[in-house]
Amino acid sequence: MAPVSAGPEIERLIQLLARLPGLGPRSARRAALFLIKKREALMAPLAAALQTALEKVEVCRTCGNIDTQNPCTICTDPRRDASAIVVVADVADLWALERAHAINARFHVLGGTLSPLDGIGPDDLAIDGLVKRAHDPAVKEVILALNATVDGQSTAHYITDLLHDREIKVTRLAHGVPVGGELDYLDEGTLAAAMRSRTPF
Ligand code: ZN
Repeated sequence: MAPVSAGPEIERLIQLLARLPGLGPRSARRAALFLIKKREALMAPLAAALQTALEKVEVCRTCGNIDTQNPCTICTDPRRDASAIVVVADVADLWALERAHAINARFHVLGGTLSPLDGIGPDDLAIDGLVKRAHDPAVKEVILALNATVDGQSTAHYITDLLHDREIKVTRLAHGVPVGGELDYLDEGTLAAAMRSRTPF
């Protein structure tokens, strides 16, 4: 066992911080020390913000986003284009698209991707809810913003098949050269995908 140099309350704080993504035991120790030193300026407001989040944060019953109101801010925003639903695997993907101001549409969070190896099937994801939403006559396009992985793409194919009988456009994100990317550094799969999905200039 590692030698313990702080009281059990502080050790507990360090252990909890070490569970956060991107923080190992060493950086958790540093973060705990920083919080303790900034007790009034940082630790107290952080504790209050965590408490508020604990009490108020809910999963949106329409789209699966996380917010303090239900339905969420995006679902209730009348300025959003109601004709398109952007399908993402995770809330983190939704937030990433929002940060990029990529599209002013509504979203649908699946809660993962199909993964036979991990035992994740269609019933484990919010696919039924998506199909119901796609039956709204106002919806003209479903945009599959899923990972360019085997699981992401098989999920995209599965959803496309389910929406086949609808008068709806199903699109997916382009695969290819990243903005600012140099061809020489790309892997063969990405280069081949970029060539296949070339667009008129
Ligand atoms: Zn929502």
